[in-house]
Amino acid sequence: MPTSPRSFDVAIVGAGICGLAHALAAAQRGKRVVVVDRDRQANGASIRNFGFVTIAGQQAGECWRRARRSRDVWAEVAEAAGIPVLQRGLLVIARRPEARAVLEQFLATDMGAECRLVEPRDIQTYGTGLRSKSFAGALFSPHEIRVESREAIPRVAAYLAERYDVTFRRETVVHAATPPRLETSRGIIEAAAIVVCPGDDFLTLHADRIAGYGLTRCKLHMMRLAPPRFDERLPVVMSDLGMIRYPGYSGLPAARALERRLTAEQGDHVANGVHLIVARSADSSLIVGDSHHYAATPDPFAPTAVDDLILDEYAHVFAGDAPPVAERWTGTYASAKDRLTLVDKPSDALRIVLVTSGTGASISFALAEEVLADLFG
Ligand SMILES: Cc1cc2nc3c(=O)[nH]c(=O)nc-3n(C[C@H](O)[C@H](O)[C@H](O)COP(=O)(O)OP(=O)(O)OC[C@H]3O[C@@H](n4cnc5c(N)ncnc54)[C@H](O)[C@@H]3O)c2cc1C
Repeated sequence: MPTSPRSFDVAIVGAGICGLAHALAAAQRGKRVVVVDRDRQANGASIRNFGFVTIAGQQAGECWRRARRSRDVWAEVAEAAGIPVLQRGLLVIARRPEARAVLEQFLATDMGAECRLVEPRDIQTYGTGLRSKSFAGALFSPHEIRVESREAIPRVAAYLAERYDVTFRRETVVHAATPPRLETSRGIIEAAAIVVCPGDDFLTLHADRIAGYGLTRCKLHMMRLAPPRFDERLPVVMSDLGMIRYPGYSGLPAARALERRLTAEQGDHVANGVHLIVARSADSSLIVGDSHHYAATPDPFAPTAVDDLILDEYAHVFAGDAPPVAERWTGTYASAKDRLTLVDKPSDALRIVLVTSGTGASISFALAEEVLADLFG
């Protein structure tokens, strides 16, 4: 049945974290907000990720600032919406001296504030289960928080509906979005302003505008491992391979030597964009990833050889045998060579917002505040 027209101040297309963040920022300005999504429940990148609000390692400047602000908003929303914060902080393991040199340079930057270098003998104070004695050191960052995305994203949506009276129109495709009208599969919705947050759908809305940015998509492999026997205190764990992917480390001079060594010793990992992130869930199982393969239309296949590379790095960082794999999935996100985010302004009342990097869980709340401030002054 077509939905009868209703009028809103702001319509958001997309109920992933980017769309929900814009809905929150608009509602907090007192706007009447509608969020429209083609799926019955969130099913895109926003529920497939680690739920890891990353601060250390983000690109210096705007991205790092947005991540810090978004972390604060996440903390407020999590408390208000009853979303458990499962982990706090990040331990970046340096398996090699070259990786330790990167961490030392990172600590000397502004972004190293409140982070600290951890000597191998002290790593176990952050939790057991790591091959601590074989490491060259580690960095502890206290800034990060982690939520379980597949539970947190629906709760954020429910919170927006309950606390701010945001309207959700689900199982509704938006065919055209030009203020003051959205043409949808369930009829017309009127809205004075529209923010399109389509994730990695570059073709349904304003394809001509989005095409100008030369975007592609990135496919990632993810796994859930059965609960291991190590200590529950461990923060999120990363290792050397992450330091040549995250711009906050990879832009440092010492990263060149690390990259040369990793390319020589772990060429297949580097070629498949593999790095290690290990996060813990409420039932003690581990979310472990990931890999990066780029294509306009990523194939749907998930070769076990790529998972094996991720598990190989896991085995170099964690003691004992890796627990059995309980779940595997892939996810995709929008990617650009020249930008982490894209905010396009086709008209005064229309914005197209894409996170064109693997940072949407970390920066969307701050990005949305900026977009709404620009829309409404
Ligand atoms: C495996 C993986 C791991 C990641 N790890 C991290 C991490 O550790 N930290 C981090 O910060 N980020 C991480 N990311 C990135 C982060 O998840 C994304 O940047 C973010 O989720 C993008 O959010 P989004 O709302 O733009 O997109 P999505 O979550 O994809 O949502 C877009 C929504 O728009 C809807 N939509 C699109 N077009 C229309 C239309 N025309 N009509 C109706 N609905 C429409 C879709 O149905 C979809 O629900 C990861 C991503 C993946 C895949």
